[in-house]
Amino acid sequence: MAKRGRPRGTGKKRRKVTVQFLERMHTGKVTQPYEILERIVKKQRADLKDVKIGIAWRLGWRPDADKVLTLGQCKKRGDLDRELDNYDFIIMLNKEAWPTLDDNHKERLIFHELEHAQLSLDNNGEPKKDDRGRLICRVRKHDFAEFRSVVENYGWQDNLSDLAQAGINDSKLPLLAEMTKDKTKKQTKKQTEKQNKEAKKGMQKTVAETEDSQ
Ligand SMILES: [Zn+2]
Repeated sequence: MAKRGRPRGTGKKRRKVTVQFLERMHTGKVTQPYEILERIVKKQRADLKDVKIGIAWRLGWRPDADKVLTLGQCKKRGDLDRELDNYDFIIMLNKEAWPTLDDNHKERLIFHELEHAQLSLDNNGEPKKDDRGRLICRVRKHDFAEFRSVVENYGWQDNLSDLAQAGINDSKLPLLAEMTKDKTKKQTKKQTEKQNKEAKKGMQKTVAETEDSQ
């Protein structure tokens, strides 16, 4: 008996794959997103020169409930990912939006995504490595995240959480603060003594001039 509906294998809805890895080379040329990425790393992000970054197209991103359309995303690879290939980061770009951007916007977008890509540093500012000698990477958060209405009502200010953290640090370190104060007092006292000595030598005017120029 013939079945009603679509014949088997035709028109059946299959799950859509939303990611396509972008090869660096296409018909003998470096593809545009990689060309931009490599230019930025060379000029502005030399710290990433030994980091392997791949690019993938992302399809089907739609504006969210707040009407924000994601244009790119920087993803750090995990241990298993790096075991399979050696990419440290993958930057995903909105495939539908990419052709609508001009060259300046494309560069700005890739620069932005690269700002998320950071190396973990030790206390001496040297890149940390894992026990396989690979660089340890991290994803950096945005510096600024604020509502337009907050800026409209209160103006643009430093990040409140930074200010609060500074306050908490200060209150946790009253002893250090006192010590610093004492040190400052001692230094001021020393400076005054020195100035008095110099004044005696007829050099007061020179000191005053130096202070004014600061
Ligand atoms: Zn971002």
